[in-house]
Amino acid sequence: MEELTRFLHPDYVECQQCDLCDDRKRMALGEGDPNANIMIIGEAPGSDENRLGRPFVGMSGKVLTNLLVMASACSELAIYRKDQSIDYEDPDEIRDILCWKESIYITNAVLCRPPSDAQGKPTNPQARHIKACMKRLEYEIRKVDPMVILSLGALPATALTKKRKPVSELRRRPHDASITSTNPDILPYVHYPVFTTYHPAFLLKIPDSAPEWKWSYRDIYQAMRAVDMINEREFGIDIPLRLGPPPKE
Ligand code: SF4
Repeated sequence: MEELTRFLHPDYVECQQCDLCDDRKRMALGEGDPNANIMIIGEAPGSDENRLGRPFVGMSGKVLTNLLVMASACSELAIYRKDQSIDYEDPDEIRDILCWKESIYITNAVLCRPPSDAQGKPTNPQARHIKACMKRLEYEIRKVDPMVILSLGALPATALTKKRKPVSELRRRPHDASITSTNPDILPYVHYPVFTTYHPAFLLKIPDSAPEWKWSYRDIYQAMRAVDMINEREFGIDIPLRLGPPPKE
């Protein structure tokens, strides 16, 4: 399978534009289908991502992959949808299949890992880090030009839509993000619908039986369905059969 594309704004190569560069091993560059329909944006890299220089490759990545596999219509992943207890023999291959077949690009609001707190727990990036990395994120969004954006956690959604609310209030309907266009004299902004759901790292902290797990699946399913509907309306592409309607809330 073809290698996933990684876009990086030229100003951010070896970037030192915020203090997150101090402890970074590697920038976790975004990766995926360069013409993706869905752009998934997380908050910040964790320790595995910092080590490997890729987004969502640790435990959070496993959760994200599982949820995407469940909502995917891809026939190559049918065996994993039927039996969620099957471990992926090659998680990278599953990620590749998802990115190409479901047309996904995955990145984070910041590319470098925020420091841990005094107890060794990961911390969120601060407003100054998001601001410093925003030109790079907008560049990636413009390059990919997705049909929809899916924010994992409230932080990316707030940065893009300026709506300062918790996930519980942001999810269930898309919010508008205005991204500066490449030709602001003709068109100042390009608008993208932003869906929001819980960050996989949050799900890992709550019991499997908590409703947020089902809701996350529902939110991802809805973002994929939105793409299906746009594809049908704009390009006459048949709506694919997905596993089933998401559970009612
Ligand atoms: S988080 Fe973004 S702005 Fe900060 S050092 Fe890393 S690449 Fe640069």
